[in-house]
Amino acid sequence: MFGLWNFDGGIHLPTHKAESSLAPMQVAELPKELIYPLMMRNGEKAKPLVSTGEQVRMGQIVVGADSWMNPPLHAATSGKVRGIEQRLWPHPSGLVGDCMVIDVDGDDASVEFQGTANYASIQPGELLDKIHAAGIVGLGGAAFPAAVKLNPQPYAIDTLLLNGAECEPYITCDDSFLRHFPHEVLGGAKLLMHILGVDRCLLAVGEDMQDAIIALEKAQSEGEYGNIHIIPVPAIYPTGGEKQLIKVLTGREVPAHGIPAKIGVICQNVATAAAIHKAITTGEPLISRIVTITGRGVLHPQNLLARIGTPVAELVEHCGGYTDSAQRLIMGGPMMGFALPTDDLPITKATNCILVAGQGEVIHDKQAMPCIRCGACATACPVSLLPQQLYWHARADKLDRLMDCHLPNCIECGCCDIVCPSHIPLVQYFRSAKSKVAAKERERLKADHARLRYEARQGRKEREKLERAESAKRKKALLYNTTKIQQKSEPVQ
Ligand code: SF4
Ligand code: SF4
Repeated sequence: MFGLWNFDGGIHLPTHKAESSLAPMQVAELPKELIYPLMMRNGEKAKPLVSTGEQVRMGQIVVGADSWMNPPLHAATSGKVRGIEQRLWPHPSGLVGDCMVIDVDGDDASVEFQGTANYASIQPGELLDKIHAAGIVGLGGAAFPAAVKLNPQPYAIDTLLLNGAECEPYITCDDSFLRHFPHEVLGGAKLLMHILGVDRCLLAVGEDMQDAIIALEKAQSEGEYGNIHIIPVPAIYPTGGEKQLIKVLTGREVPAHGIPAKIGVICQNVATAAAIHKAITTGEPLISRIVTITGRGVLHPQNLLARIGTPVAELVEHCGGYTDSAQRLIMGGPMMGFALPTDDLPITKATNCILVAGQGEVIHDKQAMPCIRCGACATACPVSLLPQQLYWHARADKLDRLMDCHLPNCIECGCCDIVCPSHIPLVQYFRSAKSKVAAKERERLKADHARLRYEARQGRKEREKLERAESAKRKKALLYNTTKIQQKSEPVQ
């Protein structure tokens, strides 16, 4: 039996989960086209590995990996590469950029996958290579490369934590995953324990996800999965945040600017663990995921197992299309998601939810009023920030003061927004301030590089000047000595 700890702040929110979780999960039809934004994690352009007109098969790598931070992307079904088109990216920036578009042929022809059930005899390093090659990233929303997270050196890990808390309203894809694939999740937990060399796994599930808990417990009684503890956690938002969940389950605090590995914990989403298990045991890379399609703006809210790269419009159509009340599209949940300007955008590995909000459903168009310094935002903040101070500094563009107030620690959970009686869109200010800080940092790095290049050039010039002077001196000395020798050897008349 495990005791649970509290984390600071957090709020109770209406869950709105029944809308999508009560309907059975369905497999989405093959899309007509697949869209892959050529955008890497670091914002640089990803390299396409197939050319226009080329026929590709499901599971073939189509977009390259330049490092472990940018795992490869595989075609989610077979088809012909139409080319690289300029399209809107499914990203909060709303930028237009290069996207690879594949016309799906409907055959679903696949490359040959090769996996092994006997992974216990494979070294962890080799398994990490396979996880990277299978393009696996965190499916909880952050899409952090799984192989990087599972390589915590130099830290010693004693606990694997699987996150199925899913505390954000409306989103039920993890709940659905746990109910439908409990063996795969437990198998993933066992595999990850082998990779990390740990002998305990804490599997967190929202306490309101009773069917998922029952499915997991039943699966656990049917197989040999090792020391896995299924732990219901309170449905307080944002319990599912990585640092908050670690605090709730272990009582340990991840240090500011630190990573969980520093305190001996590795945290992965439940669906990520299952995707890793599938990749290792069957060889199938990450080409699909469960996405919640929900909100009053869609006729039949439900969870869909969909191919990555499928346009949002096709998924909404699968759910019966839009209702008359549909007003706004959000990728992600109402708290941490971002608005989409159109449905002609694809789902990515990070897409856990498409929320088609009806009138007044999530956006309350209330006029922002001046801050009354009530402090409600600070009380709600789960990372103990002072949002009102951040707000003042963000408004005044005081980037240094924002750093002093730990802006990078803000997880953009939106708790402060929700409780603010003045309806100030605080998170918008923080996101914008973070972009400015990042831009300033990029400028600083650029300036540092330029300075280092200038100093290196100056140093080289100085060295060359000295070498020239030395060389001239040596030549002069040589000439002088030669002349002297000649003079000495000449006979006196
Ligand atoms: S909750 Fe809103 S009004 Fe209250 S202190 Fe924070 S920003 Fe100001
Ligand atoms: S959005 Fe940032 S500042 Fe606001 S409550 Fe969440 S972590 Fe705190």
